[in-house]
Amino acid sequence: MKRLGTQISKIRLKNSHLDKLIDRDFESMTAVDILTWSVDNFHPRLSLSCSFGNPEGLVLLDMLHSIEPSSRVYVLDTGRLPQATYDLIDRVRDKYQKKVEIIFPSNCSVQEMVQKHGPNLFYESLEKRQLCCRVRKVAPNKEYLRGLDAYVTGLRRSQNVTRSETPKVEVDGEKGGILKINPLADWTSDDVWAYARVHKVPTNRLHGESYPSVGCDPCTRVVPEGEDPRSGRWWWENPETRECGLHVGEESEGSGI
Ligand code: SF4
Repeated sequence: MKRLGTQISKIRLKNSHLDKLIDRDFESMTAVDILTWSVDNFHPRLSLSCSFGNPEGLVLLDMLHSIEPSSRVYVLDTGRLPQATYDLIDRVRDKYQKKVEIIFPSNCSVQEMVQKHGPNLFYESLEKRQLCCRVRKVAPNKEYLRGLDAYVTGLRRSQNVTRSETPKVEVDGEKGGILKINPLADWTSDDVWAYARVHKVPTNRLHGESYPSVGCDPCTRVVPEGEDPRSGRWWWENPETRECGLHVGEESEGSGI
C-alpha cells in the first residue's frame, strides 16, 4: 500500500493543508475520526461520492450528516440507473432533509456514443463498455471534482481484487491532485451492514432481492448466495477488469478508462 508521504509531490493543496497530512497515521484512525478530520479541514470543498447502490455510501452519508448536517453528497446519474436507486435518492432527501447533488453526463457525448455504437454497446466488447463508463461516469465525475479539495468514497479492500490495496487517505493524481478519503477501507461487509441496521440507514431495496451491489440496470444482475458479491457487476468480464474507471489509478493497468 502506498504511503501518503510518497505522493505529496502530486498534491495540489495549500501548504497549510499539507502540514496536516504529512506523517499522520490515518490507518489507525476510525472512520468517524477520519470524517471529522476531513470536515474540519475541507468542508465545504469536500463531498461524498455515493452511488446509492451500495450500503457503504449510505453509511458514510449517515456519519457525515451527524458530524456536519450541511456536508455534501453527490451521485452520478448515468441515465441507466434502476428505479430503486432513484427511489432511494428521494428517501435520503426526505430523511436527512439533504440536497443530493445529481451529476449528469454531457448530452452531446452520450448522443454521439449511442448513435455510433447503439444503446447496448457495453455488451459488445471491453473497450465499448469502458467507453460507456467513461462517458457516463468518469468524465462527469472528473469535472465535478475539479471544484473540490477532497472527496470521500466507500471503497473497501475486501470488495474486489482491484481494491485490496486501498489506503484510507491518498492523493488522487487522476483528479488533479485532490485527496481521496476511504474511511471504510478496513471494514468488512458485516461491519457495514451492522452499522446500517443499528442506525436505521436507508439502503437500496434491490439488496433484498439478491443484488448485493447495484450499478446501472443493464450491467447489474442477481448474485446467487455464496458467490462473490461483485460478480453481479459486468458479469461477462474477468474480475480484474470489473471497475468503471472511477477508482482506477493513473499507475494501474487500464489507466485512463
Ligand atoms: S455501468 Fe454499464 S450502463 Fe453504466 S456507464 Fe458503465 S457500461 Fe454504461
